Amino acid sequence: MTSRLQFELQARATGSAARAAVFRTLHNEVLTPLFMPVGTQATVKAQLPQTLEDSGSQILLANTYHLMLRPGREVFRKMGGIHRFMSWKRSVLTDSGGYQIFSLPHSRSMTEEGAVFQSYTDGRSILLSPEVSIGAQVDIGSDIMMALDQCVASTAEESVARAALELTHRWASRSLAARGDSPQAMFAIAQGALYPDLRKQSVMGLLELPFDGYAIGGLAVGEGKNEREDICGFTADLLPSDKPRYLMGVGTPLDILEAVHRGVDMFDCIIPTQVAQRGGVFTSRGYLQLRRGVYKFSDEKLDPTCHCPTCERYSRSYLHHLTKTKETLGWQLLGKHNFHFYHRLMREIRAAILEDTFLSFYHEKRAFLHEEDLDNPVIAQKSKKPKRLALGHYEIHKAWEGFASIRHIHSGEIMHARTPPMEEARRLYTDQARLSERLRESGEPLVIWDVGLGAGANAMAAIGCYEENSQPVRDLHIVSFENDLDSLRLAFRNSDQFPYLRHGGPAGILKEGSWQSKVHPGLRWTLIPGNFLEVMDKAPFPPDLIFYDMFSGKTNAEAWTMNAFHRLFAVCKGRPVELFTYTCSTASRVAMLAAGFYAAQGLSTGDKTETTIALTVEAVGPHHKLLGADWLARWHRSTARFPADIPMDDHSSWENVILQHPQFQNA
Ligand SMILES: [Zn+2]
Repeated sequence: MTSRLQFELQARATGSAARAAVFRTLHNEVLTPLFMPVGTQATVKAQLPQTLEDSGSQILLANTYHLMLRPGREVFRKMGGIHRFMSWKRSVLTDSGGYQIFSLPHSRSMTEEGAVFQSYTDGRSILLSPEVSIGAQVDIGSDIMMALDQCVASTAEESVARAALELTHRWASRSLAARGDSPQAMFAIAQGALYPDLRKQSVMGLLELPFDGYAIGGLAVGEGKNEREDICGFTADLLPSDKPRYLMGVGTPLDILEAVHRGVDMFDCIIPTQVAQRGGVFTSRGYLQLRRGVYKFSDEKLDPTCHCPTCERYSRSYLHHLTKTKETLGWQLLGKHNFHFYHRLMREIRAAILEDTFLSFYHEKRAFLHEEDLDNPVIAQKSKKPKRLALGHYEIHKAWEGFASIRHIHSGEIMHARTPPMEEARRLYTDQARLSERLRESGEPLVIWDVGLGAGANAMAAIGCYEENSQPVRDLHIVSFENDLDSLRLAFRNSDQFPYLRHGGPAGILKEGSWQSKVHPGLRWTLIPGNFLEVMDKAPFPPDLIFYDMFSGKTNAEAWTMNAFHRLFAVCKGRPVELFTYTCSTASRVAMLAAGFYAAQGLSTGDKTETTIALTVEAVGPHHKLLGADWLARWHRSTARFPADIPMDDHSSWENVILQHPQFQNA
């Protein structure tokens, strides 16, 4: 038999890696995606097995490490296994103890044979080897066993992570051998920290062994949310489609939704009971904290759309009281509701996958699951300690349409005043530069000079373009220039208002001055701090594309002079280079033309009917609308005809230079 679970894939969602499946354990049929409550000590804290069954729990998780210390393997052998022992009729999954070796350092020592640690119940030295772990899981009598693995921090160095995954592979073979002919299913655990190469090596090695399912281990242990989601999606993609996939230790309802979208089927987490003990509940009105005084006189149902025993019977006022007095009934009732919420979410997810409406469901739920207490927003407490909305020369500006951008306090100039930053960045810079198309062409690494990093919108648009590209062929190197990082820092600190900055990139730039994607090693970002004209020579590569997004001539006159464009032209000359900028000022266009660039009309944005593209002759192509006779006529009527660094006396000679520019010879 190749699989003990008779796994059957039922549906895959369009536009997402989400999937629905069914498999059979020794005790019941299991529908995926599913959430598994954690019953560390053969009990889910403060919950009756009957309650769990009623809320829709299909599998409980139990911890081998804790159960082998107490009550001990012999109790399970004599009592007829964990199901009978705790009176639970459905499935049990036992972990291997690998995570506890990692997280509970009771004077442990690690060898090829296994981990030796001291029992916290009686101080004995105990060896946890693959054979011991599997033997204990056989005695416990779970439906799904986990192979013993060595877990390391997700932030571990590559050599440490590599050694751990190699040991994990050898232990995986020993775990399988130790199972013998037991009918229990067994999952392997893929490790590799945040290194895609190691994740791949780990999965490929484990696929050679006949496991019944695969877990993604070593996440939710110290990494950022984005990194976790990237690695989770990357690893899930490598796993076979005909076996269940399990993301260990994750997570909040939002984390689970994100992981389902990336192709994961099974989850476990202590969050539903852990937050319940402290008064926290997930509801259709957002995440509520019942300790808050606003609930003292609240006669409402806990969650108006929930039919769990808690919501049917008790008011928020009573639950608030139980929470404040730390009564165990409060913990029990809130935990019960949380399991109903989790299982209902999983059923809705599954239904949406089966109906193939998951993608829209995902977008809708994803927006909602960020919410906190819609009925009683936590405003009063925040106003006591206001967030700092200004930093250095910058402050956060809220447009009346609701989006945030950064304002230069002294000049009043706003970055992306009329259009949300990311929307404008895509339209003017990445879309106009046909970045997505260029990344699919083969060639040398593509270099973008991001002149005027600001709050990072243009650079993040380029990074997003690369990451969303299904098959980027070419490497992308973004070189950002900025003399004052306060605008990025300010936006980053307020990333609730600048959601595009919730990414490892800006964090890396602010901390280290550079960043390289761990999932796509061909994607790199470097910061060159300082005044652009003084530091442009420090750029490691000449540009293919330039996003020229400096403050306007009023705030930063030097950036729009002929001298500035001369210097730029010198690094572009002889190669196809395109420069995109939001301005359409006549004087700036003259500065570009006088410096040797060709000038073309760019797309409109906000209240500007057009913007500007400067090109080297090598880059001029059929999709460019070069300025022509119309523009020359307007130029003649203009009152500000020349950039600041062309003196009045020289205007007539420079007028001839412009008129003789090759771009106007056929105009
Ligand atoms: Zn409820």
